Amino acid sequence: MTAPRALSGSPASSAGLGGRTALVTGAAGGIGRACALRLAAAGARVRAVDRDAEGLAALTERAQGLTGTVEPHLLDLTDLDAAELTAAGTDVLVNNAGLQRVSPLEEFPPDVFRTVLTVMVEAPFRLIRGALPHMYGQGWGRIVNVSSVHGLRASAFKSAYVTAKHGLEGLSKTVALEGAPHGVTSNCVSPGYVRTPLVEKQLADQARAHAIPEEQVLSEVLLRDSAVKRLIEPEEVAEAVAYLCGPHTSFVTGTSLVLDGGWTAH
Ligand code: NAD
Repeated sequence: MTAPRALSGSPASSAGLGGRTALVTGAAGGIGRACALRLAAAGARVRAVDRDAEGLAALTERAQGLTGTVEPHLLDLTDLDAAELTAAGTDVLVNNAGLQRVSPLEEFPPDVFRTVLTVMVEAPFRLIRGALPHMYGQGWGRIVNVSSVHGLRASAFKSAYVTAKHGLEGLSKTVALEGAPHGVTSNCVSPGYVRTPLVEKQLADQARAHAIPEEQVLSEVLLRDSAVKRLIEPEEVAEAVAYLCGPHTSFVTGTSLVLDGGWTAH
């Protein structure tokens, strides 16, 4: 009987991600930036995709001296055809880009709802579609979808985000089933609230929607259901992403690595 391919056939199995190409979306800030730096530190050639040119330039500067490289790629992911093309030839795909809008459903702008679903569900679908032929061809690939505790639980006033993240969790599981015979795994990383601009930007909207002062949002809304009463750091999320791309994970697929401080233990 021959050894499983992921244990015997991966050049990255003992040396991190040397020789691997990784694409990270939303890499200019927050979790995506931490993931790009973490994967480059593991030796990957990282294609850093974002629509924020300044953030990409700062990331590229910060990545100097790491074992791997970070190559900026300016793209708005609502350009779905371009997104799919960008993913061709990648060994590791991290679908991370996202945006948030906090608003009661009856006031929720339909165009924002559509954009959230385009960036957070349709773009990942197109990127995966673009990445799979190369992954299938070599019998190895890692897809990590940065979901959220909101892929597993709902919160009021986040209709688009919760819908998108539940969709992403479903997409990830489907890819896992189809990718398994080709050595491709697909998983979600699903954090609670992370200390990033996405969270900082929603404090005022949360205060308005919940009719409480902004300084109470952290304790009474964001951390209310978390047993661990702090925000998680982007680097902690990036570590989970790196684990899922590492050498001992060929049997880990179709699941969600939940980093929610005990939120879903309720
Ligand atoms: P962030 O706002 O700090 O970063 C998001 C990045 O995505 C930005 O650099 C932004 O420019 C980019 N982006 C957004 N729309 C884009 C588009 N159309 N085209 C190209 N790039 C685009 O956010 P973050 O907190 O780092 O979030 C990253 C991911 O993690 C998101 O999917 C988010 O839903 C998820 N997440 C965040 C938290 C949190 O508390 N911050 C919790 C759970 C999950």
